[in-house]
Amino acid sequence: MAPAKSTCWPLTDVVVDCREIAGVKDLEIRSLPCRVQSLVRLAPDVMQLKLKLPTSERLLYLAGQYVDLMLRDGTRRSFSMASPPHDNEHLELHLHNYGGAFSAQVFGRMKERDILRLEGPFGTFYLREASARRVLLLASGTGFAPVKAIIEQALASGISRPLTLYWGCRVRADLYMNDLAERWQTEHGVRYVPVLSEPRPADEWTGRTGLVHRAVMEDLPDLSEYQVYACGAPVMVEAARTDFTASCGLPPDEFFCDAFTPSAPAGSRARTAPCRAHAALPSSPSPPHWRRS
Ligand SMILES: Cc1cc2nc3c(=O)[nH]c(=O)nc-3n(C[C@H](O)[C@H](O)[C@H](O)COP(=O)(O)OP(=O)(O)OC[C@H]3O[C@@H](n4cnc5c(N)ncnc54)[C@H](O)[C@@H]3O)c2cc1C
Repeated sequence: MAPAKSTCWPLTDVVVDCREIAGVKDLEIRSLPCRVQSLVRLAPDVMQLKLKLPTSERLLYLAGQYVDLMLRDGTRRSFSMASPPHDNEHLELHLHNYGGAFSAQVFGRMKERDILRLEGPFGTFYLREASARRVLLLASGTGFAPVKAIIEQALASGISRPLTLYWGCRVRADLYMNDLAERWQTEHGVRYVPVLSEPRPADEWTGRTGLVHRAVMEDLPDLSEYQVYACGAPVMVEAARTDFTASCGLPPDEFFCDAFTPSAPAGSRARTAPCRAHAALPSSPSPPHWRRS
């Protein structure tokens, strides 16, 4: 017999404590002009964009959050901040070339000293510092950007929780900050595992291959003591969530993510949901790789 449904009515005012927004509630969302300070090609399809805010302005945010860049036609594009908040010289972004309107601007016409407008910070992808759990960071492609900010912030604040990073890309050139991740490993004990899904013979790759979240499952079949932060291609993020919770004992509420879904059409507001992975799932549950363009 189905259990009887009942409705409860509060007898006094209630305060709802939402874990997802508690950490960001004091951060003011601002709309600010910014100047392109530098554009550096980190990989054939990845541009590092450094933005400078007006001298008197600062953007308060949590490592892992993102901003929206506004285009002249009113559309906006979301990009995660790769620089940690304590580094307030500039905002660093890592942009993949998706071939769309904003990619064409960044990889074609944009130059130093151009003026852009940004709005933010947004998002709930940030390190839950109150937890003592081991931290597993999982990135695909430019999903490395917010993970970089989180790791740099964690190291600067002297975190004592063990950090493990898995970074999945298609080919060797896509691991555009491999040296930095290796330095985190040798100098700070961050365990780093790069994984390529389609290495080319010229890559002479002797490291891990296949799907990045599968590599995690092979190495760490028991994730019950972990907190997971996954960022990048929606298919990777959703596969990790499903498989880690179903097969590796990860408690569902210890999975945090930011899925890089294509940006919203003109006129719509930025999304602030904790994870947008569900919005962009392909029909196949087992994609052959995480190619994003
Ligand atoms: C919260 C959040 C944070 C993000 N952070 C980053 C980041 O740090 N770095 C980064 O490179 N991207 C990031 N993205 C993704 C980025 O905002 C979008 O991909 C954006 O639409 C690209 O703009 P565009 O004008 O170049 O392409 P669009 O004109 O938006 O799209 C051009 C074509 O590419 C396809 N496309 C666009 N984006 C994607 C995608 N992500 N995956 C697969 N196909 C796509 C579109 O469907 C379309 O066919 C983030 C997205 C979100 C939601």
